[in-house]
Amino acid sequence: MNLIIHRGTHEIGGTCVEIATDETRIIIDLGMPLADPRDKKKRLKEFSLTGKTVPELIRDGILPRVPGLYRSVGEEKAVDAVLLSHPHQDHYGLFKYIREDIRIYLGEDTDLMLRASEALLGDRFGRHEDKVLMRDRERVSIGDMNVTPFLTDHSGYGALAFLVEAEGKKVFYSGDFRGHGRKKVLFEELLSNPPSGVNVLMMEGTMMGRESETLQAEEDLEIEIASTARVYDGMKLFICSGQNVDRLVTFYRAAKRAGAILVLDLYAANILQELGRKSLPLPTNGFKDVRILFTKQLMKRLLERNLKHWYERWRPYEISPQALQRVGKKAFVMFRDSSVHEFEATGIPKGSVLFYSLWSQYTLEPSFEKTQAFLERHEIGLKEMHTSGHAVLPDLKRFAESLDPEVLIPIHTEYPEKYREHFGNRVRCLKDGECFEL
Ligand SMILES: [Zn+2]
Repeated sequence: MNLIIHRGTHEIGGTCVEIATDETRIIIDLGMPLADPRDKKKRLKEFSLTGKTVPELIRDGILPRVPGLYRSVGEEKAVDAVLLSHPHQDHYGLFKYIREDIRIYLGEDTDLMLRASEALLGDRFGRHEDKVLMRDRERVSIGDMNVTPFLTDHSGYGALAFLVEAEGKKVFYSGDFRGHGRKKVLFEELLSNPPSGVNVLMMEGTMMGRESETLQAEEDLEIEIASTARVYDGMKLFICSGQNVDRLVTFYRAAKRAGAILVLDLYAANILQELGRKSLPLPTNGFKDVRILFTKQLMKRLLERNLKHWYERWRPYEISPQALQRVGKKAFVMFRDSSVHEFEATGIPKGSVLFYSLWSQYTLEPSFEKTQAFLERHEIGLKEMHTSGHAVLPDLKRFAESLDPEVLIPIHTEYPEKYREHFGNRVRCLKDGECFEL
């Protein structure tokens, strides 16, 4: 069996892995790189890809050079399958370039999340009709390989790790994971009952290079948000990803602790609704302390995408920005800079606060300037309230010890060379595109 990391040996994002026997070739993930391959200091913007052909994108280093994977390239034999670990752009962002006759394997929850976000944001996944939906620990056969998915704890909904078995060998791909989220029981379950006899472990190391950082668990974040909210008399605004389900639950629970209601925007509400889980905090699931904010900008987007019913269905639970004034002090309100004017038209009470719940580095980017100016105009406090979607070093160590592989290969990390000092001599650093034989 051969293993090639086409991209991801020295960077976070843009992951693409190939595992092959004489008979079968599979690809795991095909993500959008976060940085421009020609100038790693520059963030890669999606618009710079539009209009480019597959050969141009391969030439520019955006698409890794993988024979038999892409649309409109030659007569090569197609790869047998592409597996997707979870619905984050840096893992699936280039799927639209994959040949449409190739079968895609992905988790049920990943599929739901992708379909909801595609409906709202447009096409990034491509029209892959031939899909196999995977369930936790239910093995599938692909050619002469067996693949078993394991649900993991991560900020990406329904994230999977994969065990690939062929020719008497076992490779485990960790995907992105953590041990301090709302699904940490999955992490503990895997540790207490790991697959045996793993020859090679490819393990993510997003947090390598930040080894001394300690991170809050989602529950601790919930308590901190609630207690901070009590200090502010005004409106409690928050910014977080509408796809980060763990975090939306954290805000719901924090609001409840603080005696406030949760006001979601139309984007987050529809994402949660489409996931179809009764436990998620939505008024349609019987949560009486959740309301939906109708902003013009999101209503317009839903209309443009023929999704009028995706706001009509929230009418019984609607709050307009104007109505926010009545409940504002007793509400946690999801904020988007595209609706700044609507928020301002309603008046912002004194003593308001914005909880910023994304990676703190994003506040340094130009895209944050509009929000920054809004905060200054209304003397709104800014409080960072975030915890990473990735495992800290002690959890990475527990993970590696439990799986106890012969060889440990760093992936999804900027510091592969640091693995050896923490995980010993079994570490083998690869280069992008290098073939490792098992
Ligand atoms: Zn991820």
